[in-house]
Amino acid sequence: MNDQRYEELAESLREVTGRIAAACRRVGRSPDEVRLIAVTKTFPASDAVVLTDLGVRELGENRDQEASAKAAEVAALRPEADVRWHMVGRLQRNKARSVARWAAEVQSVDSLRLADALTKGVRAALDAGERDRPLDVLVQASLDDDPSRGGCPVDDLRELAEAVARKSDYLHLRGVMAVAPLGVEPEPAFEMLASVAEILRKDHPEATEISAGMSGDLDQAIAYGSTCVRVGTALLGGRGLASP
Ligand SMILES: *Cc1c(COP(=O)(O)O)cnc(C)c1O
Repeated sequence: MNDQRYEELAESLREVTGRIAAACRRVGRSPDEVRLIAVTKTFPASDAVVLTDLGVRELGENRDQEASAKAAEVAALRPEADVRWHMVGRLQRNKARSVARWAAEVQSVDSLRLADALTKGVRAALDAGERDRPLDVLVQASLDDDPSRGGCPVDDLRELAEAVARKSDYLHLRGVMAVAPLGVEPEPAFEMLASVAEILRKDHPEATEISAGMSGDLDQAIAYGSTCVRVGTALLGGRGLASP
């Protein structure tokens, strides 16, 4: 164990949980309503292990290959930790089978074809004994109509949610996710996501999650009802230029 890294991560985790608590307090919410996902992409498995030692149980990644190796390493080093891994990044259909082996939740489902591929992947993983429960799914809304950043156009989201809900043996619809548009104030996007989430909940009362907010905007996201913040930089440090 690297004591210095342990102290660093302990300190940043205190800061982030303090920010979450303060943001909740400002709007009269309970911090228990907001999950923290530590986004460990580009950081080594040893950091993920330290985070589990500090009590973090939800870890996020955005690339299948990196995540699958890291999840295996963390499971080998901390078999008792019972970590839930989240896929939060853009996902190609040909990775669905692999993601079904390591992910408890995919937050970035943005097309019918991806939902179909994940259904098949989860079914195969269940049959092979590689997982023992359905995959939790968030449908990702595009709030800026920039297709390169992922997400389903808001107008198509109900149909996508319906398709996920129909596959309930394999996929469990839990809610919505979005990334705020770049270069503008995030509040209007978070407000729009909250209203999209409310509409979906009329059809799917179990879809209560709103995943919104990252290192730079988690405070605003919590003000607009986020139940799940995805934090990388503020916990682990900068990722440098080469990484997304
Ligand atoms: C990398 C990433 C995050 C974390 O971003 P930070 O700004 O480092 O906190 C959150 N969500 C998604 C989808 C990401 O890819």
